[in-house]
Amino acid sequence: MIRLGRYTLLAAVIVSLMTTLPGEVPCCELSYEVRPNPDAGVVDVSLAVYGFDGDSLVLVRPSARPLVGLLAQDPEIKGARSGRWDVVNGAPRWTFAQPERGWSNPIRIRYRLAITAERPVNAWSVGLDRDLLYAPAEALFLTPEMPAQAAMHARVRVRWRLPREWEVVTGWDEYAFHGVRSLLRTNVLAGPVEHYQREACGLTVEFAAQGDWAFDRGELADDLAALTCATRRRLGDPGIDRLSVMLVPARFPMTSGNRNGPHAIGLVHRLPDGSRPSIRLLAHELVHLWQQYDAPLWFQEGVNDYLALRIAHEAELLDTEEYFGNLAAIDATYRANPQRRRWSFDDEAREAPAFGPSDEYLAYRKGAMVGLALDRELRMQTDGEIDVAVLWRDMNDLAVWGHVRWTADEIADRAAALVDSDVSPFFGRFVHGTTDLPRPKMLLADLPPLPEPRAERGGLGRVAAFIQATLD
Ligand SMILES: [Zn+2]
Repeated sequence: MIRLGRYTLLAAVIVSLMTTLPGEVPCCELSYEVRPNPDAGVVDVSLAVYGFDGDSLVLVRPSARPLVGLLAQDPEIKGARSGRWDVVNGAPRWTFAQPERGWSNPIRIRYRLAITAERPVNAWSVGLDRDLLYAPAEALFLTPEMPAQAAMHARVRVRWRLPREWEVVTGWDEYAFHGVRSLLRTNVLAGPVEHYQREACGLTVEFAAQGDWAFDRGELADDLAALTCATRRRLGDPGIDRLSVMLVPARFPMTSGNRNGPHAIGLVHRLPDGSRPSIRLLAHELVHLWQQYDAPLWFQEGVNDYLALRIAHEAELLDTEEYFGNLAAIDATYRANPQRRRWSFDDEAREAPAFGPSDEYLAYRKGAMVGLALDRELRMQTDGEIDVAVLWRDMNDLAVWGHVRWTADEIADRAAALVDSDVSPFFGRFVHGTTDLPRPKMLLADLPPLPEPRAERGGLGRVAAFIQATLD
């Protein structure tokens, strides 16, 4: 009886979800006006928020990263008292109380950014000079917190008023985005930009390149399309129609990529030999766009890295020798990590510095090896029916219904449910423990063939998955 009651309740929940998802919410529209002053190293931003009626307005710089774009002047709202400043999970935010006469419409906000770098130093920094601004919006733009929009996956229109020759490279349709989890993260570029567009298995891939490059940008766009197609085949519908990849020159030799939002990837790159960003980097960032949940770093970054390489191999952009070579290099970095017999992933998350080169983190390099070993475990236990991509898709399906944050134990439970067997010894040894992983050669030997990619699930399948997850 209790079970029946829960089902009835669930049915009600589902009905209400169905009527509001995805919904049009009568708030908000945002307009950003951006006025750069490269000589002074500052950017003035005016933000207008239309249709807002909450008790307090919270503006966030949605990133805890030590970004190069720094605030030079706190945000001010015309007709409202100064905002109260605090930091939540490392991200600064300002809270403004509603004025006694109520909010004006639009609410007009001003703030100033100091841009201290001439050129980007990594994929999540900003750079400004006469011919270039590169800014992932998480660095540059304060965004109003709108939990209702985010929860309801609602459409929010954004207008950009930029200087001439500046562009936003968003991957959104018609300057609107859906308030999934990160409200507004995108790429902004100034200066002459080359555009390439490719159709890839129902997705439009736009590639915007800035700077002088010795390599063929069109070929890079072709590779992105091939990777997009292979990823879609393996990981299913990403829930977007287009994605944007942009490339800007770094200040010094380095190569780095970043997911700049659900639709956008930023690459900051420059190597002394003039070579292009690697297939591994492109694949890694693309697979992030298929990741609709949050998970511990070893899964989000490490398992991603392995799966991305596997997909690049499936797309025939890496031959078998290159694929094995990449995995061997990752394995060597993992084995050279001085903490590998001391720290579990949780220990590392507590003890290690928050930001640094990914080579120095077990979560990245050991995480990739855990990805390979987990893929092997799932395939061996099911004679090749279930692999790590099936698990990934399953987690995405459940994220659609609100299971957005996954712990290691929840991932283990899900994997166990898919293979109908106990995977806790595996997680105990390699995820929670510090047991050395077998060498990649062994993990790659005698693997069952990959499963045929699953057909797309329809809406009902997703509802069923939701019920299952909620009753677990
Ligand atoms: Zn990553």
